[in-house]
Amino acid sequence: MINKILIANRGEIALRIVRACRELGIKTLAVYSEADEQSLHVQLADEAICIGPPQPAESYLRTDRIISAAEISNVDAIHPGYGFLSEKADFVEQCESCKIIFIGPSSSVIRQMGDKALAIESFRKVGVPTVPGSDGVVKSVSEAVKVAESIGYPVLVKAVSGGGGKGMRVAHNSVAFAKEFEVARAEAEKAFGDGSVYLEKFIENPRHIEFQILADKHGKVIHLGERDCSVQRRHQKLIEEAPSPFLSEELREKMGSIAVKAAKAVGYENAGTIEFLVDEKGNFYFIEMNTRIQVEHPVTEEVTDTDLIKEQIRIADGQHLRLNQEDIVINRHAIECRINAEDPLKNFAPCPGTIDLYYPPGGHGVRVDSHVYGGYVIPPYYDSMIGKLITYGRSREIAMDRMYRALEEFIISGIKTTIPFSKVIMQDPVFRSGKATTKFVEEFVERTNLDNLIQSNHNLE
Ligand code: ADP
Ligand code: ADP
Ligand code: MG
Repeated sequence: MINKILIANRGEIALRIVRACRELGIKTLAVYSEADEQSLHVQLADEAICIGPPQPAESYLRTDRIISAAEISNVDAIHPGYGFLSEKADFVEQCESCKIIFIGPSSSVIRQMGDKALAIESFRKVGVPTVPGSDGVVKSVSEAVKVAESIGYPVLVKAVSGGGGKGMRVAHNSVAFAKEFEVARAEAEKAFGDGSVYLEKFIENPRHIEFQILADKHGKVIHLGERDCSVQRRHQKLIEEAPSPFLSEELREKMGSIAVKAAKAVGYENAGTIEFLVDEKGNFYFIEMNTRIQVEHPVTEEVTDTDLIKEQIRIADGQHLRLNQEDIVINRHAIECRINAEDPLKNFAPCPGTIDLYYPPGGHGVRVDSHVYGGYVIPPYYDSMIGKLITYGRSREIAMDRMYRALEEFIISGIKTTIPFSKVIMQDPVFRSGKATTKFVEEFVERTNLDNLIQSNHNLE
């Protein structure tokens, strides 16, 4: 029985986990860096232990300190959230050897999926469609050029250990290719300590559509439908929604059953996401599996009325999934806007600092997941996401109108945020028509005078 959980994360996801534990009657231990003493999750957890200085390498990534805190406080399990240690197989092995339950899949599956080329290979073998590309890692430029020619340009060079949209370069011809190949390798080495790369055909104008999986320890695997995360900037998601306005019922069923088959084939356990790109014709291609809870999980929660964090905990506790595939009936629509402390008019430069006034929106069909409050100081050491605004209703139209209304109500003063940017997107005819692809943001920024729009729309100073 899980009675106490250590939360190895910070920010909104740490608070989200505290909330789920409270409802389950499970005690929580927050571990935090010196920069996060004032964070809401530290104040709301039952216990809290400081694990070091602000820099992640000195605190949130210090597995020795986190395991020590777990042992001192006698926790049964660790929830890793997303980012940080959530996909580090070595950490999961440490937990396994210390008899601490890691709330996630086994270290071996994390390792297999964490190598994106190996993940593609594993899924391709069981009949999952993948993007035309190299057979795994390409080592030399000369070999890579040959493969790129056979795939046909444009070609994307991708880091095997990539994540968070980093370590990806597109080449449109053989002249550019050699340079992009080297840049991608150097970037990957710097960001992930692993310069291995593989190649994929660059799919033009795709949608990013991903399936949420739940799998228990007894072999039962279901999917909770899809999320459309096509609204991205530099391969990072900004706005996500469920269901996708693009998928027909037929395609949804087909992709969902393939996602379940893929998860079963690798012996997946706990919550996970299978990401696909879908082209204009409805051809779909697996790109990667995320072996953790995702930032955008709330849109699935709102359309399926399921608490994914509680499900993760129950699964880790060895309980049987109570949900059956037939129980997943989706007749609502949900949208999430990530609220980043960034200035949309200064090329989305991070804007840490003090929040003077904080007034979150409310009312019917509105959810705010955030750890900040008036007077909170956003530290400069971490990701710039400071919260998520989720709206939902019976139709996509209602969810969008509600999102616009909620963004208008949202007051965060003292810093710049992406709220005004999301507001103009909510009024954009291309977004509203449901036709946005992963190219949408770039095109939108090109054809829009952001300065004017944001100024005429602004609700914050
Ligand atoms: P999603 O947004 O779909 O959950 P992301 O790939 O954007 O997935 O990652 C979620 C969070 O984890 C983000 O805050 C991102 O910065 C962080 N993250 C993802 N991969 C890595 C990585 N390899 N190293 C460090 N942080 C990562
Ligand atoms: P990460 O691990 O950083 O999340 P992904 O492989 O999931 O990397 O890709 C992130 C995003 O990059 C996708 O959502 C998509 O917008 C773009 N992308 C990735 N692969 C391709 C491809 N082969 N063609 C076109 N766009 C791609
Ligand atoms: Mg991804």
